[in-house]
Amino acid sequence: MGRTILDSPELVRLRKSMVEDCVRGRGIREPQILRAMEKVPRHLFVDGALWLQAYGDHALPIGSGQTISQPYTIGLTTRALQMKHGDKVLEIGTGSGYQSAILAEIAGQVFSIEKVPELARRARRTLDQLGYLNIAIRTMDGCYGWKEEAPFDAILVSAATPDLPETLLEQLKPGGRLVMPLQGSAGQQLVQLERKADGWRKQVLGPCRFVPLRSSHPS
Ligand code: SAH
Repeated sequence: MGRTILDSPELVRLRKSMVEDCVRGRGIREPQILRAMEKVPRHLFVDGALWLQAYGDHALPIGSGQTISQPYTIGLTTRALQMKHGDKVLEIGTGSGYQSAILAEIAGQVFSIEKVPELARRARRTLDQLGYLNIAIRTMDGCYGWKEEAPFDAILVSAATPDLPETLLEQLKPGGRLVMPLQGSAGQQLVQLERKADGWRKQVLGPCRFVPLRSSHPS
């Protein structure tokens, strides 16, 4: 049975200009990221009423008080993960599944954890419709990580927290990268942590705005 993907020349055109103006135009030049963002139909990850807004330069509501990040932020976080084809990636905060799809276009396998069951169910449906066989979704508190599948080449935390998630850092391969919004008193900073033989290398990538991570995990 073939799948029917709801797309149109108008939406394809809007998607192309989103990538050109909001992602490439702001300095994200990696062809694999631009290709992935041109391919994945961002509108299908939000309600039908928001389709025409799906390609604007802003975050989008996905229900349960959560949002898909602005296109540039998706490009920036994806670049900071420095993924190679075949990589195994862990994502905390599946949300709509949009960023999971972008990651799955570049990496080999994506393991994504979402705390809100309704969001996880909806993301699974959308990703199934698009045929993403290399994304596994689990409904639970992501701060415990995904031990059975560890270690990972890259980990993305898509919600902000003031503490470094030690349990997740332990599930990274040596040389692996964890990207997350770190909540400070003056706001959030997007950071990349790289696992080195003798500890961590931390790089601050700039200010950002993510929804808060909700966890009962002692970090
Ligand atoms: N990247 C997603 C949006 C992420 S919004 C997208 O493309 O749509 C952040 C998500 O993190 C929300 O869906 C929220 O429910 C989830 N979340 C918050 N705390 C969490 C936790 N402890 N474990 C797993 N998911 C969590």
